[in-house]
Amino acid sequence: MKAPGRQRILVTGGAGFLGSHLCDRLIAAGCDVLCVDNYVTGSRDNVLHLLSDPHFELMRHDVTFPLHVEVDGIYNLACPASPVHYQLDPVQTTKTSVHGAINMLGLAKRLDAPILQASTSEVYGDPAVHPQPEEYWGNVSTVGPRACYDEGKRCAETLFFDYHRQHGLSIKVARIFNTYGPRMHPNDGRVVSNFIIQALKGEALTVYGSGRQTRSFCYVDDLIEGFLRFMDTPAAVTGPLNLGNPVEFTMLELAETVIRLTGSPSRIEHRPLPQDDPRQRCPDIAKAKALLGWEPRVPLEAGLERTIASFRDRFFA
Ligand code: NAD
Ligand code: UDP
Ligand code: UDP
Repeated sequence: MKAPGRQRILVTGGAGFLGSHLCDRLIAAGCDVLCVDNYVTGSRDNVLHLLSDPHFELMRHDVTFPLHVEVDGIYNLACPASPVHYQLDPVQTTKTSVHGAINMLGLAKRLDAPILQASTSEVYGDPAVHPQPEEYWGNVSTVGPRACYDEGKRCAETLFFDYHRQHGLSIKVARIFNTYGPRMHPNDGRVVSNFIIQALKGEALTVYGSGRQTRSFCYVDDLIEGFLRFMDTPAAVTGPLNLGNPVEFTMLELAETVIRLTGSPSRIEHRPLPQDDPRQRCPDIAKAKALLGWEPRVPLEAGLERTIASFRDRFFA
């Protein structure tokens, strides 16, 4: 039986990048944490430091299968997140988003527990509206190489809202924009980890296309703070809610910043732009500001410095 007063929280995908930081914060806040992961992109290494904590439990499980546990709240993060990873087994990516959402919603329904969904800015596709407010319906290909992820996440949002309307579930749908920080997977092809590793190795930084496409980068601690505040809101606050940093950079600017901060002799090399690569992405976070009193605090350079230091320790010490 759980100790009285201690909240028992399930984090699916808890051995991944964001999930492991969320587990850290929940443990620090005095929760019991059940971390569920099939390690397809995550790793026990990300939560190794928590394994000796009696309030932390790690379970190998694939969320496309039913899960019968007893918890007070659920954060559903299980899903490969980088284009390289989610395109390796696109059918499994859709299954994870859709079957995984159905199972976790079924669990939340049985337990009458609030459930937060890690949705994504990818639901906006290659956006025709800029910056993207939550009301924008998106511009997404149903058949392109990113569709397994984008459409899977869109369908998951639909399921969350139907469980909310049909079964009265307390849902929190967070649309996460590009987030970075320590414990990012070194080989998942995401731009921040790619550039940092390339710069630390003294290799050329691979800028895809002209490098004039934009993204906005949120430091992981800011994002997790947004998750916790969102979960703490009354049941009427369902989202979808954009969580991300609204300061926009081009990939060329990012490359130049990483080269400067690492003191690397690396140059920039251009490579072909991947298919369906969104040209620009930037969240409108007015709703998160109003509802959560939240906005990112860590500027890009400060967050990059921390991330570079952690990559140095992990891979170049
Ligand atoms: P990640 O790949 O590091 O973490 C995902 C975790 O889910 C991994 O540990 C992986 O092993 C696990 N997983 C995958 N499929 C599973 C399954 N079927 N059953 C159980 N576990 C499974 O990625 P992340 O960056 O930490 O992303 C976490 C969540 O946030 C994902 O849902 C992702 O779509 C969402 N998200 C992340 C970002 C970002 O910039 N990091 C942006 C938008 C959305
Ligand atoms: N489910 C689960 N854990 C639970 C309860 C349900 O994994 O504790 C799964 C269950 O296997 C089902 C899914 O969640 O496939 C949806 O459950 P729901 O009760 O909404 O639908 P139903 O069981 O009627 O299909
Ligand atoms: N990108 C790049 N070089 C790299 C990896 C990515 O220029 O080595 C670009 C990519 O084309 C995209 C942006 O950086 O325009 C962000 O890519 P990422 O895969 O990190 O995330 P996305 O926002 O596309 O899901």
